[in-house]
Amino acid sequence: MSKRDYYEILGVSKDASKEEIKKAFRKLARKYHPDVNKDSDAPEKFKEATKAYETLSDPQKRAQYDQFGEADPNQGGFGGFGGGQGFSGADFGGFGDIFDQIFNGGSSRRRDPNAPRQGSDLQYEMSITFEEAAFGKTTDIRIPKEETCTTCHGSGAKPGTKPVQCTHCHGTGQLNQEQNTPFGRIVNRRVCSYCHGTGKMIKNPCGTCAGTGKMKVNKKIEVKIPAGIDDGQQIRLSGQGEPGVNGGPSGDLYIVFSVKPHKYYQRAGDDVLLEVPLNFAQVALGDEIEVPTLYGKVKLRIPAGTQTGTKFRLRGKGIKNVRGYGQGDEHITVKVVTPKHLSDEQKAVFKKLAATEGSALNEDDESFFDKMKKKVFKAD
Ligand SMILES: [Zn+2]
Ligand SMILES: [Zn+2]
Repeated sequence: MSKRDYYEILGVSKDASKEEIKKAFRKLARKYHPDVNKDSDAPEKFKEATKAYETLSDPQKRAQYDQFGEADPNQGGFGGFGGGQGFSGADFGGFGDIFDQIFNGGSSRRRDPNAPRQGSDLQYEMSITFEEAAFGKTTDIRIPKEETCTTCHGSGAKPGTKPVQCTHCHGTGQLNQEQNTPFGRIVNRRVCSYCHGTGKMIKNPCGTCAGTGKMKVNKKIEVKIPAGIDDGQQIRLSGQGEPGVNGGPSGDLYIVFSVKPHKYYQRAGDDVLLEVPLNFAQVALGDEIEVPTLYGKVKLRIPAGTQTGTKFRLRGKGIKNVRGYGQGDEHITVKVVTPKHLSDEQKAVFKKLAATEGSALNEDDESFFDKMKKKVFKAD
């Protein structure tokens, strides 16, 4: 947890007005809102800004902060949100549920233990083949996840019974603890240890889920792999995460794809790369070869005199863009393979070739070695 000054976090001066603080917070909240900003540190920044705003927007808390600095977060601070003032949905247009998510998710900052909370998001890594990534596929996966108990429908109580209000915290989920400090008596709120902050007690637990309201299942989920998906990309299956609490919505399931390497092809964005080995005769004399593509074999003419490293492009033989922006190409790179083991007959042919090399050269096609020779002996 960052120990930055609250004023610094909001980017306002020490004597900023309530309006200025609110304005600064709204700006940050928009910027780091987890729905908008997918950076990994965005939720933390959002939380940080919210915490700073929570303190500085309350005159009493602000005065206390100015005097004593940040309250120990482990002690529950100065009580978290009281009744949700300043954070109504109307005020922040839909940010309300995000606040619920962040603050009700924490252990010591629950506003209302019975408020609906969204379930956690889940992540599943799925290994797919090169072709599955290129063409897409519909497949089933089984993931271990929690589901709302079908016997008690999430209440945790035996059918026919109901959870009762916790007698220790009177349904608030929190217990007050008074503490004498050099600054006077401070009341800390802690999560009620009897009901674990739920505010409810189950006298007759449901037999299926042992009172948790949830069951572990291996859920079968249909996944539509989109054509053109690439290694490391993900899709979101809305509502397929962990179930919500108190009737809140389920979290989401993120499927992250890991694409296995292909035996021959490589991928560069939507393009497919392929190296084709050719022998001396094919590149020297020219040839017509068949090359594989994702859509079947196609004929490719190799012109006489093709050098190693020469590239050919097969338009539209690449991968369909995952967002529908056209289609990639297949790029073929020629690799001339030097034979390692020659038969006597082949050796004879090469020797004969070597003897004719000079005369076989086109006159204006000076060989690399000729150029080298000139360069080396010119100085003398
Ligand atoms: Zn149950
Ligand atoms: Zn309780």
